[in-house]
Amino acid sequence: MFDCHMHTKFSTDSIMDASAACERSIALGLEGIAFTDHLDIDFPGGGFMVNFDDYFSEIATIRANYGKEIKILDAIEVGIQPHVLDGSMKTVAGYPFDYVLASVHVLDGLDPSEGEFYKDKPRHEAYELYLKEIYRMIKTFESFDMVGHFDYIIRYAPYEDRMLRYNDHRDILDAIMIELVKQGRGFELNTGTYRKNEPGVDYDFELLKRYRQLGGELICLGSDAHRQEHIGLRFEYFSQMVRDAGFKYSVHFEKRKPVFSPL
Ligand SMILES: [Zn+2]
Ligand SMILES: [Zn+2]
Repeated sequence: MFDCHMHTKFSTDSIMDASAACERSIALGLEGIAFTDHLDIDFPGGGFMVNFDDYFSEIATIRANYGKEIKILDAIEVGIQPHVLDGSMKTVAGYPFDYVLASVHVLDGLDPSEGEFYKDKPRHEAYELYLKEIYRMIKTFESFDMVGHFDYIIRYAPYEDRMLRYNDHRDILDAIMIELVKQGRGFELNTGTYRKNEPGVDYDFELLKRYRQLGGELICLGSDAHRQEHIGLRFEYFSQMVRDAGFKYSVHFEKRKPVFSPL
């Protein structure tokens, strides 16, 4: 099993040391990991920029130390807004990444973690807006492998019932999944959103079932760990959910090409 989503200290919101991440991942028996550090051009208030020359040289050193025990992937989580497509593309094209994860972290110029985005919006409206932005990203950003956490919007939502359910957003979720299948791309199951295992907040199994039904084959797990104790958290539970939905393989990417492992 690969953990395809984690952040080292190259991300401004993480202090995790890449060596410590490798040691933890090896102890957990993971086959591989992807260091998906954040590039979010024009993030409100700044931050989330990485010097990828430094990143690649550091990860090469880490690979020299740990590469025999675990596969280490050079990756990026690129945060997309409509006006940063070209800049993001330049960075993605400028380095030999194994894996490019595309995410939406900013909506209408607002960072959902600040709470302002949800003001005066019922849950359905807020979630639809976010999902439409994911769809727009898929249609307009030309260089990515998988979509990051399309359920990100639930993380900071102020509603009593925060779950994102397939049945509440069928049209837009179908559009997202059909487009991804058409493009030969997929999405991650971001377990970080469900790290705390809070009552009433779970990944909607119907999402996975529907994706499989529509021909979806590319699925991976990502912990979104920013500290080592969160790596691979609850992977057994979520692997089982993915298997139950009919998937036999998880995917990771090497040099931007999908590689499958039995689940
Ligand atoms: Zn993210
Ligand atoms: Zn992340």
